[in-house]
Amino acid sequence: MRVNLLDIKIDALSMEETVERVAGLIRNNRPFRVMTLNPEYLYQARSDRELLDLARRADLVTADGEGIVWACRVAGCPVPERVTGIDLMLKLLERASLSGWSVYLFGAAPGVAIAAAERICQEYPGLRIAGSQHGYFQAGEESRIAQEIKETRPDLLFVALGAPKQEIWIDRYLEKTGAGGAIGVGGSFDVLAGRVRRAPRWVRRLRLEWLARLLRQPSRWRRQMILPLFAWTVLKEYKLKRF
Ligand code: UDP
Repeated sequence: MRVNLLDIKIDALSMEETVERVAGLIRNNRPFRVMTLNPEYLYQARSDRELLDLARRADLVTADGEGIVWACRVAGCPVPERVTGIDLMLKLLERASLSGWSVYLFGAAPGVAIAAAERICQEYPGLRIAGSQHGYFQAGEESRIAQEIKETRPDLLFVALGAPKQEIWIDRYLEKTGAGGAIGVGGSFDVLAGRVRRAPRWVRRLRLEWLARLLRQPSRWRRQMILPLFAWTVLKEYKLKRF
């Protein structure tokens, strides 16, 4: 089932169901796009038609973060749980190693994707890594990158350029890469490569991972200024308008 939040449809699926859906999309043999939607993207999409269209074109949109889960609840259309880029990537890697899918890692600073690939090989023996490449390219290099990916024929392409750059890149180049499907995963390679530590499990259980990230990476302040605006928009749309 898809639920409507501020004009973007989100798939109301648990993590397990999301992985099954991706497996189904891979079997379909038609290039597909997965978007892990966070509040910042959704808020920007309200004033940026291109971002809105990208979200509407995605084959699967997951609730990335507590902000989206909360907003869906306020809107009266709850989703079962949050399905973040990093958690979904970990589950898909596990599934890939069982199902024999090959994966390609594109994005993050030089050296990070390859380090993440090495860690993944240790964690998931037998997983087929089609290739990797960093995400700091010059304008005009996109087609070359897509061609290099194409030569490796991955089933799943993980793109870690940060939102919305990764969504725009996927939309423009997915077909050219020949990948089965692509998913934007933000800073996940940094975590997998051990460059950025995730908040401990208990912090995540308390739904405070966003706060931990903010404290560790104060540069995120600017970005997270959007969160109160997002919350206000949701409350205005779904609570205040009713009075
Ligand atoms: N990045 C990249 N190319 C760029 C800009 C960013 O590969 O031109 C990478 C960056 O190194 C980082 C990721 O994109 O690994 C973005 O991480 P962030 O934590 O900001 O993403 P989020 O998970 O918050 O969307």
